[in-house]
Amino acid sequence: MNTTALTITQASCADDYDPNSMPVAKARAFIHQFLDPVTGVLRVPVRSALGRVLAEDIVSPVNVPSHRNSAMDGWALRGADLSGGEATLTEIGVSFAGKPFSGKVASGQCVRIMTGGVVPEGADTVVMQERAKAAGKSITFAGGQKVGQNVREAGEDLKSGSIALRRGRIVRAAELGLIASLGIGEISVYRPLRVAFFSTGDELKSIGTTLGEGEIYDSNRYTLYGMLTRLGCDVLDMGVIRDDPELIERAFEKAAASADVVITSGGVSVGEADFVKSMLAKLGEVVFWKIAMKPGRPLAYGKIGSAHFFGLPGNPVSVMVTFYQFVRDALLVLMGAHPVEPVPTFRATCTSMLKKAPGRTEFQRGILTQAPDGTLTVRPTGEQGSGILKSMSDANCFIILGDDTGNVEPGASVEVQLLEGVL
Ligand code: AMP
Ligand code: MG
Repeated sequence: MNTTALTITQASCADDYDPNSMPVAKARAFIHQFLDPVTGVLRVPVRSALGRVLAEDIVSPVNVPSHRNSAMDGWALRGADLSGGEATLTEIGVSFAGKPFSGKVASGQCVRIMTGGVVPEGADTVVMQERAKAAGKSITFAGGQKVGQNVREAGEDLKSGSIALRRGRIVRAAELGLIASLGIGEISVYRPLRVAFFSTGDELKSIGTTLGEGEIYDSNRYTLYGMLTRLGCDVLDMGVIRDDPELIERAFEKAAASADVVITSGGVSVGEADFVKSMLAKLGEVVFWKIAMKPGRPLAYGKIGSAHFFGLPGNPVSVMVTFYQFVRDALLVLMGAHPVEPVPTFRATCTSMLKKAPGRTEFQRGILTQAPDGTLTVRPTGEQGSGILKSMSDANCFIILGDDTGNVEPGASVEVQLLEGVL
């Protein structure tokens, strides 16, 4: 929150900080001290706000619904007319959605009404058509109706002048519809976050080139592109940078000058970290951790100039796991989203044996299924190596095994976290 009061290196010198065994939750909390949301605002047409973050409260200029209307197809009448049980009333007109009945309903009368139709003056109750029998204009209603039933009051969903959506809300399909229902055509959203990323490694080739011995295609820039784009960030893909201190330094400078956030993959593991460490110490303030987790052990976080920096591990699965566990929430905060809650977890029955060593958190990749009786079961995707991207691709959830957990026996309950949302 306050970068002025506390520098990253000061905070990292705090007593309870151990860079060689950093618990996941502590690393997450550490990063969150330094996140300063973007302030730039854009006025956009409603549809263009999809996936963006509201930069203003949306105040309803109208009552929703705007008039008292029917929740059912049936007849509008005076509830008191049915207080004695079954009764026959005379139909005096119709009120359809968008075509109101302009008269007044007196005792002994009713008006044919459709869902959304304005409830006419005098009427206070709607009886659904399934509870009525029509013989011409004589309509007989079953007894046992409640006065006021099936009537939606004006302003019942939202009163004019009240806040429909708060600043910080991420605009999804439901919010687009809600804003449109208020007749609002243009809204203020925060400008998108600009995120620059590059891969480091002499072994990496971009697609479209032929692989030499010991070389592999760079996949991290593609997963990062996907995760960042899905989150609504503007991406700046800076390609593969060779393990050359001078080239990497230049890449860092360029990235930090052109983006709010810089993300790299590779180059933060033991052995490689040293020259990156000294370079980043020159360019900014960065801390390096060995997170007590698997996969995704090495992780760096800091500021280079005004840009936030996330140094992710090189292994393709580690990139995705650390992105979901550390970067995603941080980016949402930087995008202006509020409140940002961690993706919820829940419990499912694990059908396989899972190998797990205590002392770190594991994020195994799982397939969650629901049996016809509603029971949730989960099984791992197979080989769980941190280089096996197929284990992510086959998965629809993480199986999260906490620090204290050891091996998991079939039939045990485990914590899972879904990888996809629906709305
Ligand atoms: P590093 O963290 O740089 O030591 O990389 C760890 C492992 O991840 C090595 O096997 C690398 O070849 C692999 N790796 C690093 N970067 C990428 C990338 N961009 N795409 C695919 N694999 C990578
Ligand atoms: Mg490398």
